[in-house]
Amino acid sequence: MRTLITNGLVVTADGSFEADVLVVDETIEAVVGRETGVAEGVLAGLAVDATIDAAGKYVVPGGIDVHTHMELPFGGTYAKDTFESGSKAAAHGGTTTILDFAAQTKGRSLREGLDAWHARAEGKSVLDYGFHMMMADVNDATLAEMDQLVAEGVPDFKLFTAYPGVFYSPDDHIFRAMQRTRENGGLIMMHAENGPVIDVIAADLVAAGTTAPIGHGLARYAVLEKEATSRSIYLAEAAGVPVYIVHLSSRDALEVVTDARDRGAMAFAETCPQYLFLSLDDLGNGFEGAKYVCSPPLRPKDHQEALWRGLLKDDLQLVATDHCPFDFHGQKELGREDFRKIPNGLPAVEDRVDLLHHGGVVQGRMSRERWVEIMATNPAKLFGMYPKKGAIVPGSDADLLVYDPNRIRTISAATHHMDVDYSIFEGFEIQGASDVVMSRGTVLVRDGEWVGPAGHGRFLRRGPADYVRLA
Ligand SMILES: [Zn+2]
Repeated sequence: MRTLITNGLVVTADGSFEADVLVVDETIEAVVGRETGVAEGVLAGLAVDATIDAAGKYVVPGGIDVHTHMELPFGGTYAKDTFESGSKAAAHGGTTTILDFAAQTKGRSLREGLDAWHARAEGKSVLDYGFHMMMADVNDATLAEMDQLVAEGVPDFKLFTAYPGVFYSPDDHIFRAMQRTRENGGLIMMHAENGPVIDVIAADLVAAGTTAPIGHGLARYAVLEKEATSRSIYLAEAAGVPVYIVHLSSRDALEVVTDARDRGAMAFAETCPQYLFLSLDDLGNGFEGAKYVCSPPLRPKDHQEALWRGLLKDDLQLVATDHCPFDFHGQKELGREDFRKIPNGLPAVEDRVDLLHHGGVVQGRMSRERWVEIMATNPAKLFGMYPKKGAIVPGSDADLLVYDPNRIRTISAATHHMDVDYSIFEGFEIQGASDVVMSRGTVLVRDGEWVGPAGHGRFLRRGPADYVRLA
């Protein structure tokens, strides 16, 4: 099967140029600059099975979302999107690869958790997928299992300074896991908030009568994210390993990442669309605020520009979603009497690529090349998938978007594909959308319609992170 994507502007992290892209079966066979191509007749007379006209459009690498939680058990319920519905929604929004978090159940093996996630995704995900491992216990047995997981292409491990009694790890456990990654090449990812202290503040708030969702945002001080981020980075420096901070939400936490990088520490961090576009105000408005409960919480509005600046200056290397959707009716409502019982998580996997285009490129905060870098190329580099993913070069997987930078659309739960009964971006009018979404040479979405096969996705056995490219 040969497909020629012609007349488009190829936009990569390295630059933009008018070129035609030849896809043969699942991979990119050739990228031919248009002037050279025409002058030298490179593609003249080539027989192709399909031609996609990308005139007036960008041709960019498919989006890579390295932080999703399909079907995650949380607080007595499950994140609503399955690998099937969630990956399909992601594809509609221009994402072609997802990395999800397999979870260890406290007291059980990592293997059992990983096997459960493989079973959920296999044959269901329409997108290529990989896993990180969330560790609830650090002990001799799980440390030994880490080596095996790295060998199986699951080289990242998420630890928590939050959620005491569930996922919380004390400093010595975090340090032992970091030491282990120095040996086995894995990467520690940190959920950095001081959970035990937050629990004290939250209990005080509830005792004083604050039970509404706003309490969630008030209890989780930004300075407690800053403290845990700083601690995580110093522990990693002591262990002599890189560290990756997930879902960085505040100016405060960004300051310590910036300082660390300035002194040469191998500290990396992502932020999420919700922290760039939403704020603490959304947690107000009575119980409606439950729709916006995630951890870390949404911050006061004035943190947003600091995060955008962090993305521009590369103190933040990428944007992932932390997609973890719960219905407002029946799920978020579990916390009607007490904000601590509201399932933590938001639906976002479908909106990331377009929101970043709108807020980044259209609103003049970054170049279109940087947009590609933070939504596809850096995720691929940092998580051992480059240049198979996140690039437009011969030999790369043909994961491509024909992207219309001018199309205007309005985000709404009435039209989105995520299996959840509300949108956190309801009514947002944004510019930019994918006309064609291709995964390994197969068109999945065309003009907003699903045209792909079921269960198209494959497990990605990933190598260790490519820090040198990012340091
Ligand atoms: Zn998460």
